[in-house]
Amino acid sequence: MPDERYQNTPTVVTTDISQAARALRQGRLVAFPTETVYGLGANAWDADAVARVFAVKQRPFFDPLIVHLGDFGLLPQIVRDVPPLAQRLIKAFWPGPLTLVLPKQPRVPDLVTSGLPTVAVRMPSAPLARRLLRMAAVPVAAPSANLFGRVSPTDAEAVVEQLAGRIPLVLDGGVCSVGVESTVVQPTANGVLLLRPGGVPTEAIEGLGIPVHHAPHTPTETADAPVERAPSPGMLPRHYAPRTPLKFFERPQDVPAELLTGPVGWLALGPPPAEWADRFVHVETLSPEGSDVEAARNLFAALRRLDAGPARRIIAIAVPNTGLGRAINDRLRRAATST
Ligand code: AMP
Ligand code: MG
Repeated sequence: MPDERYQNTPTVVTTDISQAARALRQGRLVAFPTETVYGLGANAWDADAVARVFAVKQRPFFDPLIVHLGDFGLLPQIVRDVPPLAQRLIKAFWPGPLTLVLPKQPRVPDLVTSGLPTVAVRMPSAPLARRLLRMAAVPVAAPSANLFGRVSPTDAEAVVEQLAGRIPLVLDGGVCSVGVESTVVQPTANGVLLLRPGGVPTEAIEGLGIPVHHAPHTPTETADAPVERAPSPGMLPRHYAPRTPLKFFERPQDVPAELLTGPVGWLALGPPPAEWADRFVHVETLSPEGSDVEAARNLFAALRRLDAGPARRIIAIAVPNTGLGRAINDRLRRAATST
């Protein structure tokens, strides 16, 4: 259900941070680069601006946003309490791709948190994002700057491709250095609950002696029928999806032969097995040397290229499930179609 009110806004791409900061403060929407992906930012104090984020993205209201801070001073205005465990995580990983879910201050609009008593908050490390947030001097609620359910943008062109005509301003800061969204955790009595794997590997959290508990999967949840008991409203099984059907397998030998007919694309750490050398019309390798960091950085751009190319089906193979590999496999699993 495209909302026609959001299809006639001329979109300007700029490198002018003060223009972007002013726009944010005035309640306009600005797409901006962080180290993870491009975010679609709104002044978090301005419920009307936050509402437009949902409308522009066609994002359901049950999927809460992350509040981005440029300054530690804003944290007490957003959250009621920072338990000692959260303080340790902040010390270790902020600024950076770790989002904490903490009890919210009443002043944070319900729209930001989808009515939850908690709010997700992080401080990005990308220098441009930090300068923008500091200059705007307001907390910025931002999901990824893509249409709901689609592949997250990791450069300004990818934002324009999906949101041109719907938002007034894109701050161009080149390519995102991490390339997958932040890790989302909620502190518990004896560790953290992992709500979304992302840019901070779980091993790094465990390395501090903090146990990481995995949130149970909610296999019956779909974009149309969210399950209320989901520990994190955004944990939809289908998300981050290209339009070309994608099939996800643990190993190349698991791919059934009938899926290798017609124009098929390949997405994995390295190239396809030698015996399949000419089965694929489009091959994307995320990191032939096997680096999880390089693979994460390449993931969403590779998905977008496959989507734009000749393949009518994408075969994706899991990467080793360590470090950023966990986030990569999570995104590929949710990009996969069941039919
Ligand atoms: P995105 O904006 O697409 O990066 O997604 C943000 C995700 O953070 C949401 O989809 C949720 O899964 C998670 N999240 C945000 N706020 C909360 C919250 N209050 N409690 C639990 N999870 C949250
Ligand atoms: Mg997103």
